[in-house]
Amino acid sequence: NQIYLDGQTALVTGASSGIGKATAIELGQARANVAVNYAGNSVGAEEAADIIIKNGGKAITVKGDVSKQDQVKSMFATTIKEFGTLDILVNNAGLQKDAPFLEMTLEDWNFVLDVNLTGQFLCAQEAVREFKRRGPRPEISASLGKIICMSSVHEIIPWAGHINYAASKGGVMLFMKSLAQELGPSKIRVNSIAPGAIKTPINTSAWHTPEAEEKLLKLIPYKRVGLTSDVGNVAVFLASDLSDYIHGETIFVDGGMSLYPGFEDGNG
Ligand code: NAD
Repeated sequence: NQIYLDGQTALVTGASSGIGKATAIELGQARANVAVNYAGNSVGAEEAADIIIKNGGKAITVKGDVSKQDQVKSMFATTIKEFGTLDILVNNAGLQKDAPFLEMTLEDWNFVLDVNLTGQFLCAQEAVREFKRRGPRPEISASLGKIICMSSVHEIIPWAGHINYAASKGGVMLFMKSLAQELGPSKIRVNSIAPGAIKTPINTSAWHTPEAEEKLLKLIPYKRVGLTSDVGNVAVFLASDLSDYIHGETIFVDGGMSLYPGFEDGNG
C-alpha cells in the first residue's frame, strides 16, 4: 500500500523537529521532492534532508519564520526555483507559550497567534499563488494542489492555561474550512490533521517520566502516546490522490483523545 508522489514537490514548515521532521521524511519516502523549513537552528532540518537524500529522494532546507511575510515569500521562491513548482504545503510550524490567563502578556498572545494562525495564512497564500500560476497537471495529480494544516485536538477541546494556543487552533479549524470552501472550485484540496498527544519536544513534560505518561494515558482511550509517524502517515495520505474526495475535513490522529475519555467507565 505504499503511496507514491512522484513528480510532486512538498514544503513542510517547522520541519526541523517532531511532527514536521517526520512528515518531511515520510513525504520523501513517498518520492516527493521536499523543502524542509526551519526557523532558527538548521541542524534538525539538515538531518531530515540528509535522510531523504540517502533514501534516494530530493530535498533542500529552507530558512524562514512563517510569521514574517518577507521570509515566507523568500522560502517559497527558493523552493520553486529549486524544484520548478509546488504541489503540497504542510502548514506544520507551531508553538506554545503557556500562562494562566491573568499572567498571559499581550506578547505571549500575539507570539502564538502570529506563528500558529497567521503563519498558516501567509504560507497558504503563497502556495495557492503558485498552484494557480502553474495550472493543472492531471498526469501528476488530480487536484491543482494540496494544503494540509496541522491543527490539534485543541481545535475543539478547550485548554485552560493555554488560551492563546487553543484560540490559535480553533482559528485554524475555521481558517481551513473557509479556505476549503473558497478554493474547492479551483480544485485545491485543503484539510487539517488534529494530533492528540504525540511524543515531540513541544510536550516532553507530558510523557518523559512514567508517572507523567500514566497520567497522560488517562486521556487516551487507545492507551498509547502517539508517534510522529502516526501523523506523518496521514499527511502522506492527505497529500495523495487516494484522499482526492476528502476536502475541508479535520482528521483526528489522537488515539481517541477527542472521545470524552472521562466518560469511558460508563458513569456520568
Ligand atoms: P516541535 O516543537 O517539535 O515542532 C514545532 C516546529 O515548529 C519546530 O521545528 C519549530 O522550530 C518550528 N517553528 C516554531 N516557530 C516557527 C516559526 N515562526 N517559523 C517556522 N517554524 C517555526 O513540536 P511538534 O509537536 O512537532 O509540533 C508540530 C505541530 O503539531 C504544531 O503545529 C503543534 O501545534 C501541532 N501539534 C502537536 C501535538 C503534539 O502532541 N506534539 C499535538 C497537537 C498538535
